Amino acid sequence: MPCALVTGSSRGIGRGIAISLGREGWQVVVNYAGNREAAEDTCEAVRQAGGQALAVQGDVAKAEDRAHLLAETITWAGAIDLLVNNAGIAPSVRADILDAGEESFDRLITVNLKGPYFLTQAVAKQMMSQKAKGQIINVSSISAYAASTNRGDYCISKAGIGMMTALYAARLADEGIRVYEIRPGVIATDMTGAVKDKYDKLISEGLSPIKRWGMPEDIGRCVVAIARGDLPFSTGEVINVDGGFHLKTL
Ligand code: NAP
Repeated sequence: MPCALVTGSSRGIGRGIAISLGREGWQVVVNYAGNREAAEDTCEAVRQAGGQALAVQGDVAKAEDRAHLLAETITWAGAIDLLVNNAGIAPSVRADILDAGEESFDRLITVNLKGPYFLTQAVAKQMMSQKAKGQIINVSSISAYAASTNRGDYCISKAGIGMMTALYAARLADEGIRVYEIRPGVIATDMTGAVKDKYDKLISEGLSPIKRWGMPEDIGRCVVAIARGDLPFSTGEVINVDGGFHLKTL
């Protein structure tokens, strides 16, 4: 049974990814920051779907937690076949870039970019030591290229994931490890709960050609397509799962 480590899979998109992998018979390490109950609920859902699951606490922003997360994965499953860098946070307050503070900037860059960058470094070395190598998926956002001037810190952290994907894809191709970036559009999770009414209106007015909210399962299904190995001649590829938001129309 192949093993995936999905960061931030207690809730939201990560949970959707974990359950989708469970349906395909994967073993999933369900990482969470603080919400153990939600992580256990995800584990139960993965098992119900046909997979196996283990909840592991760990803050991706902390080096010792990243090391612990990987060690627990290997102790449990013996190897890692897929890393999904999904954990991420939005700014606690949306502030105009002319007013936004350094504290929020440092926090977002550390959790959303530095954490996955160094977790990938450690996981890549582990995969290189294995007979069956593995794949890596980074969850960025349409915010990697769409400028929201009231959350510049978030946008920059996600744009950084784009270059991180390119760097690791280039470095790891010879090692037999492929790296992908999934760019979700507006997805119904706790993260977007606070701005639900705003997005309800924008979506109904045509924010994206496909006029509905994205669901965590939409991202899960994309992860499964990659996890199955169905993109063997692609690496560093960006996959938009955004209802067509990225299209320029005239
Ligand atoms: P969410 O509902 O807020 O869930 C966040 C998840 O990440 C939770 O499982 C949380 O764990 C975990 N987490 C937060 N900080 C962490 C840390 N430092 N270390 C480890 N885990 C941590 O968010 P979401 O909407 O599912 O977003 C998931 C990813 O998709 C993020 O990278 C986000 O930027 C990206 N994204 C989201 C949208 C959207 O519309 N929702 C769109 C584009 C991209 P706890 O349960 O323990 O708190």
